Amino acid sequence: MRKFYILLLCFVLFGCQQSESNQPNTTSSKNVIMIMVDSMTGELIQTSLEEEREKFPALRYLVENGNVYNDLVAPFPSMSVSIESTLITGEMPNKHSIPGLTWYDVKNDRIIDYGTSFETYRKLGFKESLEDSLYNLNNVHLSKETTTIFEELHDRGIKSGAINLLLYRGKTEHEIEPPAIIYWTTGIREKIKTNGPDILSFGSFYRPKELQTELLPDALLLKAGLSDYYTTEAITKLIKNNEQPPFLLAFFPDMDKRTHRNGPPYVHGLKTVDDHLQRILDAYGSWEEALEQNIFILFGDHGQASLVENEERAKLNLHDLYAEYYIAPFGEKPASGDIVIANNHRSAYIYPIRKDIQIKDLVEKGLQDPRMGIAAAEQNGWVEAWSPDVDQPLRFKKGGEWEDIYGQKWTIDGSLDVLGLKTSQEEKSIHYTDYPDALNQLYSALHSLPNSIIVTAKPGFVVFSETTPVHNGGGEHGGLHRDDTLAVLIVSGTDKKIENPRIVDLKDYILSLFDE
Ligand SMILES: [Zn+2]
Repeated sequence: MRKFYILLLCFVLFGCQQSESNQPNTTSSKNVIMIMVDSMTGELIQTSLEEEREKFPALRYLVENGNVYNDLVAPFPSMSVSIESTLITGEMPNKHSIPGLTWYDVKNDRIIDYGTSFETYRKLGFKESLEDSLYNLNNVHLSKETTTIFEELHDRGIKSGAINLLLYRGKTEHEIEPPAIIYWTTGIREKIKTNGPDILSFGSFYRPKELQTELLPDALLLKAGLSDYYTTEAITKLIKNNEQPPFLLAFFPDMDKRTHRNGPPYVHGLKTVDDHLQRILDAYGSWEEALEQNIFILFGDHGQASLVENEERAKLNLHDLYAEYYIAPFGEKPASGDIVIANNHRSAYIYPIRKDIQIKDLVEKGLQDPRMGIAAAEQNGWVEAWSPDVDQPLRFKKGGEWEDIYGQKWTIDGSLDVLGLKTSQEEKSIHYTDYPDALNQLYSALHSLPNSIIVTAKPGFVVFSETTPVHNGGGEHGGLHRDDTLAVLIVSGTDKKIENPRIVDLKDYILSLFDE
């Protein structure tokens, strides 16, 4: 019986891998509703609207009445937890301290994993992994040196809400009572105190008082409410009950799984997203009224790279490349091995334990496989990036006379081809091609797990170790390539523009909407 509950729990948690509130807004005339749609890209929106125009009325309405940006850049590694952390703090992983879906906690000698797969949880320990996901992520791991958008709005006296977000730290205390299934499977029975925005909703794990008496689709077989359907019902109930806070951030998780299975762009999968958006717009008197009362921000958290059909070819196996080193299997202390791998599916951190292992050797071994995209490490204050297709590395560090399109200054040296950088000698400017914001991405990731090296795969392949899912013939993310990091941003209901948008810039942009 226990096994049955564990399987159900898995089904709920790993959708990604197969297996007093309505106060008038005092500082802005409009409310902001922000919905993050997993794996939604510009290509997906464009293809959907072009091919099957009549099937996407809500998306079409928001696009035609808004500004569309096809090159919203996600942070690296392009995994939901690090992306949501960047979204709510406005900082990169080196500042918010969530290096990825999986990372190596050097101090406590633990692999932290917020939900790669059932197998990963089983091997790392259900109780520990659930504590990491349900409590530690927001309350311990997310750096207290950063402030979240929910905390800043609270300080300005503006109410906010989060629906089905993994990251939601705010200043209002909530007591999460884990559903019975958690107790049956892990023995965790204590209530979990956590700080969130005024309205916090997380499937059947936590329902805010504003929705306490509502009928919501949060049965276990409906993924315990961690679904687009639940998110939509929660939003519409808040609107209809006059409980909508001035800022509401919500997550639609379902497109992720569909795109992993079918590969990008998965037009058919977007159809239900449009149905949900129609329901939300319908909650107002009319769609026009919805945009008169609200700024709608609809965006993707990352893209996905298409994977090759052949499973063995799709798997860039780190156990083969690093066969001469002992890698402790999950369940053993990671530091009992020679190196530690923290896998983020299309990229991985490799952390040397044995003192005699040279960073240079780890990089060279990684580059022996032509399916490798980029390998990077920091040495003597310089970040060095290598490609198996380019003889010389690119070296760069923060500060200097070169400025990229995001206004960041750099000193660069060596081969620009490694990252496909384009420069203008006259203007001393840097433009990105295949690897958007790559200098900042690599710098921040390497500083979020110091002394590690990073390896990332070319599109088509997954960086495999121990329990990494392989969706050959489908899609995957976590890498540095534009296929992984570019998503779409649609802003409707305001003319306020955002230049060269990145997810790291959205917090300031949203706060500015409340300044007017
Ligand atoms: Zn995913």
